[in-house]
Amino acid sequence: MIEIKLVITNVCTRWHCHVCGDRTELDTVLCEGSGDETPFEVVRVCPECLKSPDSIDEKIEQQASDLEYEAMLLRSLKGNLKLPTYEEWARATEKHQAEIMEIRKGRSK
Ligand SMILES: [Zn+2]
Repeated sequence: MIEIKLVITNVCTRWHCHVCGDRTELDTVLCEGSGDETPFEVVRVCPECLKSPDSIDEKIEQQASDLEYEAMLLRSLKGNLKLPTYEEWARATEKHQAEIMEIRKGRSK
């Protein structure tokens, strides 16, 4: 059994919930479990999932099913992506940045 504990954090960000796949809000107390029994470095449960503890296993199954579907979609991309070159991306980015700077110069006049 993996014990999920209340963990105080000073890192202000949204964290991934392993149960539902959603993210936490900017919570200052997280619900996390870790240790040898966990298949992940840390298992995190969001407060929304805490509201319905009786459906945790159902949510985990739904999340696993969603991830399997996403994996299938991701594999379907193999050999099917026509990409711009890195140089094309860099030139487009440089051109766009220059356009933004011109617009900003025009506003400051
Ligand atoms: Zn959740």
